[in-house]
Amino acid sequence: MPANAPIPAPVPAPTAPTAATAATDVVIAGAGPNGLMLACELALAGVRPIVLEQRTEPATDNRANGLVGRVVPLMHRRGLRRRLTGDTEPPVPNDVFVFGALLLDLRLAADNPLHGLPVPQRRIEAMLAERAAELGVEVRRGHAVTGLVQDAEAHPNTGPTPGPTPDPDPDPTAAPDPAAVTVEVAGPAGAYRLRARYLVGADGGHSAVRKLSGIGFPGVTKDNTVTRTAHVSVPAALVDPATGGLDVPGYGPVPPFAHHRTDHGLIAFAPFTPEAPLLSVTEWTDPGAAVGGDPDTPPTLAELRDSVRRVLGADVPLAPPAGPGPHVLRRVLGGNTRLADRFRAGRVLLVGDAAHVHSAMGGPGLNLGLQDAVNLGWKLAAVVRGRSAPGLLDTYEAERRPVAERVNMQTQAQSALIAPGADVTALRELFTELLRLPDVVQHVADTMAGADVRYDMGLADPHPLVGRWAPDLVLEPADGGPAQALDALTRDARPLLLDLTGKGEYAAAAESWGDRVRAVTARPSGATPAPARALLLRPDCHTAWATAAEQPTDRDLGDLRAALERWFGPAH
Ligand SMILES: Cc1cc2nc3c(=O)[nH]c(=O)nc-3n(C[C@H](O)[C@H](O)[C@H](O)COP(=O)(O)OP(=O)(O)OC[C@H]3O[C@@H](n4cnc5c(N)ncnc54)[C@H](O)[C@@H]3O)c2cc1C
Repeated sequence: MPANAPIPAPVPAPTAPTAATAATDVVIAGAGPNGLMLACELALAGVRPIVLEQRTEPATDNRANGLVGRVVPLMHRRGLRRRLTGDTEPPVPNDVFVFGALLLDLRLAADNPLHGLPVPQRRIEAMLAERAAELGVEVRRGHAVTGLVQDAEAHPNTGPTPGPTPDPDPDPTAAPDPAAVTVEVAGPAGAYRLRARYLVGADGGHSAVRKLSGIGFPGVTKDNTVTRTAHVSVPAALVDPATGGLDVPGYGPVPPFAHHRTDHGLIAFAPFTPEAPLLSVTEWTDPGAAVGGDPDTPPTLAELRDSVRRVLGADVPLAPPAGPGPHVLRRVLGGNTRLADRFRAGRVLLVGDAAHVHSAMGGPGLNLGLQDAVNLGWKLAAVVRGRSAPGLLDTYEAERRPVAERVNMQTQAQSALIAPGADVTALRELFTELLRLPDVVQHVADTMAGADVRYDMGLADPHPLVGRWAPDLVLEPADGGPAQALDALTRDARPLLLDLTGKGEYAAAAESWGDRVRAVTARPSGATPAPARALLLRPDCHTAWATAAEQPTDRDLGDLRAALERWFGPAH
């Protein structure tokens, strides 16, 4: 593309599968949100995976009530937020949130990074399934991964692979791959084997792929809590019309959409819909004592009401919810904080809950997992297509493990802050004081949003933007044409070189990568000065290289070419 080309429209999705050298290029185990997101990212990058999902129908047991953190702007930049909300304007961060059931007044933060998108997980999954289908991804429902064997070349610690049995739906372009994974599948028509160059376990916290690969899952299990959650109806007289929260006779106000701690437990009242608010109550038991209820049977509303009475010391009559379901009625005993000891074993990789589990406090699960998928997708596609060396995949764990470690840390910290006891009450008083300090609010908000993530891009003395999430920009093309927001250029997940000098010298330096990298020469719109004069953005919207120099120096151009080669392969 010429250096001064106008900002182009996003390229359409590829219409033909890439040449495959095994039965298929990539198999993903699990069509949960993270497996589906990874499938979309791979397809955008020209590799169509096969997704194997053990369930015959999409899940209805809604878990997440929404997305929290950097994933919200990410969904916007992929055009996926519009599919959920119809909203085309950039997302606006929340004014308030909660940390460990303490108010986080985000208006105190100088640069508020914390977005929320209250959409049930089943709707997110349905949207991603629809998008994956549009992109030509095959999702096989009712197909469970039951075994895997890696070829010796793929995984030196395993023995040779038995010959694959025929795939019932073979890829006609497939050819043998010297190194591959043989995936054993239980499908509706019986067992079969599928050879893939890579297998990704997106099969949740109990991941069969992780266990079959011998990847450990160290961490801690707490067995002293019971959380009962249900959609309910409550008497209108108990709902405060001013706040939407509860006003309970004999106790007082319970604010909406926030964890509320008492001396006896934790309660959350979330009227996402007024006819079926979600009520969740957590109680603690003595360590080692049996926690309440059989994990395999759902609780009753009477059981939940008793729990409310114990936690608040006052009664809240509960009735079944009105309106259309599906409705939640769930009891969760204890909880886990665990991290896979490797995110990759040979040609097997893990994303999402398969790689890490933690408390749902603050809703960080999909912020973490969906960004795992977006980090891995373009890298795996580049390796599969032969554009990048397999070593690129090592950066997946190098970048995402520290992020998962921080999520585990901050959710454990929140769990500690909601526990009962006078010592915790004292700790909360101190935290309440700290959370009035703007710098503390900024730090906590950055941590919860994942806005503190800065990847090592391998550059010495990098520009402050390097490694970070690319800032929002509105661009005026150098040769005229309407201004365009950055999110119009990131929907198809192509690497971007933004030459904001308007002159095109940086863009010209990337011409030899023109088949992979879209170069855009533009000026930033409006009075706000550009955060850099040129930026190279990876498909995950992280900045691989940036410069403040209006006039390129030899070093700038050398660093730019090195970054292009490091992330997108050799020049053509
Ligand atoms: C009560 C609760 C509330 C939560 N609230 C929030 C929230 O508000 N915000 C947030 O961001 N996160 C929240 N989370 C976390 C979020 O739900 C998870 O992080 C998310 O579901 C993980 O997605 P995943 O795709 O990695 O795994 P999963 O959603 O577990 O999907 C895995 C898929 O793999 C399939 N599968 C399993 N084994 C196999 C196999 N052998 N072969 C083929 N398929 C298989 C499963 O059927 C499933 O469809 C919450 C979690 C819970 C439990």
